[in-house]
Amino acid sequence: MKTSQEASSFNSLLRKCPRCGADNSSITPLVYSWHEWTLKSCIICKFVYLENPPGYEALVAEYAWERNHGDRSVRMRKEYPFTYNFSRLWKKIRRFLIRKPNKLANRVSKFFLPGVVVDIGCGTGDYLAKLPNTYQPLGIEISEELARLATERLSDRKGKVLAMSAIEGLSSVPEGTVSGIIMRSFLEHEQQPVDLLSFAWKALRPGGSAIIKVPNYDSINRKVMGNRWCGFRFPGHVNYFTPESLQEMVESVGFSIKSFGVFDRFYLSDNMWMVANKPRLDS
Ligand SMILES: [Zn+2]
Repeated sequence: MKTSQEASSFNSLLRKCPRCGADNSSITPLVYSWHEWTLKSCIICKFVYLENPPGYEALVAEYAWERNHGDRSVRMRKEYPFTYNFSRLWKKIRRFLIRKPNKLANRVSKFFLPGVVVDIGCGTGDYLAKLPNTYQPLGIEISEELARLATERLSDRKGKVLAMSAIEGLSSVPEGTVSGIIMRSFLEHEQQPVDLLSFAWKALRPGGSAIIKVPNYDSINRKVMGNRWCGFRFPGHVNYFTPESLQEMVESVGFSIKSFGVFDRFYLSDNMWMVANKPRLDS
């Protein structure tokens, strides 16, 4: 694995605010910035984002998503060994005590019409492989290795996997043909989240829905844990949504919000869940 100095030899882009387009290059980075990765809070709209993410080619080559989780574990173990060990133990206890409801499967069966279901950043295709038979799986995965594994995994479901970026993948799907789109722990990685949402909207048929799960920057844990918060991942996470900014961005491309209640964005949880719908033509 490369050191951060070597990694910075990849071309970094200097991003403007992905929400409102403001140039924040002259303002002071947030204290949550880490090594060469600068987080900015937009001077106009307050959206928090990574200003200098690596380009897509670097994502594929060096920061492929299968590595992101590992990178965070390594960082936590090295920099905060006590928190790291405590949080691992706590997770084990919690898993033992609470059998959590399957939030994704529940939403899929409640909100997705039968037909094609796209999983963006599908990894090895585990979730798509478990979809009920009323759905036809379509994966999009930027990592070629994971896309290859997913293709194998989905071969008996007649599923297809596109080894492409999310925007390339969604724009290659015929417009108005998809029943459901899963963006689970994905939108926080996308450098052009508004474009991605707008391609998702186009790909969906009227009445189709998107399920979105992202870390909640407004969660109490972020305020308490500061830069040890599990939502901070460098340089993988490039957008830090609050309930308000997520809703505004999703609605700005034409979606209507189907489900985003108090418990979908509860301040004690690190993540939030939204279901957004492409309205039917007659409604
Ligand atoms: Zn902004």
